[in-house]
Amino acid sequence: MLVFKKVADLQHWLNAERRAGKTVGFAPTMGALHEGHLSLVHAAKQECDLAVVSIFVNPTQFNDPKDLEKYPRMPEVDAALLMQAGCDALLMPPVEEVYPPGLELTVRLDFRQLDQVMEGVFRPGHFIGMATVVKRLLDIVAPQRLYMGQKDFQQLSIVRDMLDQLRSPIQLVMCPTTREADGLAMSSRNLRLTPAMRAAAPVIYRSLLEAQADFVQENATTVQARALEKLAAAGLRPEYFDIVDGISLLPVAQGADADFVVACVAAWAGEVRLIDNLVLKGAPG
Ligand code: AMP
Repeated sequence: MLVFKKVADLQHWLNAERRAGKTVGFAPTMGALHEGHLSLVHAAKQECDLAVVSIFVNPTQFNDPKDLEKYPRMPEVDAALLMQAGCDALLMPPVEEVYPPGLELTVRLDFRQLDQVMEGVFRPGHFIGMATVVKRLLDIVAPQRLYMGQKDFQQLSIVRDMLDQLRSPIQLVMCPTTREADGLAMSSRNLRLTPAMRAAAPVIYRSLLEAQADFVQENATTVQARALEKLAAAGLRPEYFDIVDGISLLPVAQGADADFVVACVAAWAGEVRLIDNLVLKGAPG
C-alpha cells in the first residue's frame, strides 16, 4: 500500500494508473478505523481495480470544537488495517493540503431540506463542511465509484444530491451498516464510551428494530414516542428519532405514505453522541 501526504503525489500516481486503464474506488474516512470502514474497502476492491482511502479529520464539519479535539486519532494502526484489507493507496494529508490558504472551496449548493432536518437541526454547518471536504477529495481522487456507509444515512443522501446537482459521473455505492455482535453500529466514537454507556448503547439498535416491527401496524407518532421513551429509560439522552422518506428525508406519517421509509436516531450515551438508522420499508435505490 502506498501512503501519500501530498495531494500532487497521489494525483501523479493515479494518473499513471488511469493511463494503464485502472478503475478507482474511493472511500473517504476520518480514521480510527473499524470493520465498518474496512467493509467499504472490501466493496471497492471487489468492484474496482484500485481502492483508495483518505484519512482526514475534517475541521470544517465539526460544529463542536471539543468533539474535534477528542476525535480519536491512530494513524499507524489505521494504516496497518488498511494494508491488511488490500487498500492500494492511502491519502493522509495535512490540513493545508486539503484547504490551501487563499483557495475558497466551500460548497455553495442548496440542499433544500436535506441538510436542515435531523442532524442539520443539532449540528448547524456540519453538512456544508462535510460536502465541502467530500467535493474537494473527489476532485483530487476523481474515482469512478464512491463508497459510503448507510450508517451516516443523511450524509449519504446529501452526497447523492450533490453528485446529482453537479451532474457528476461518479457512482455512489451505499454499504450496509456493520454492527457489533450486540447490534451497536460500529463507530470511531464508540471508543469513548464508558463501560456503563457501552452496555446501554445497544438499546439504539433495539429501538430501531422495534420501530421496524411496529411501523407495519402503527403510525409514526406512536412508534417515535415509544422509541424515545425506550432510549431514555435505558439512560440515553435521545435528540431525535425521526421516521422519514428515504430520499427527501421529510417526515412520513404512516407506512402507506411512502415506498422507502427510514428511521433515523441520534442519542447521547454519556458524553458521546451516537447515530444510527434502519430501513422500515422498501429498499434503497
Ligand atoms: P467516518 O470515518 O466516521 O467519517 O466514516 C467514513 C465512512 O465510513 C462513511 O462513509 C461512513 O458512513 C462509513 N462508516 C462508518 N461507520 C460504519 C459502519 N458501522 N458500517 C458501515 N460503514 C460505516
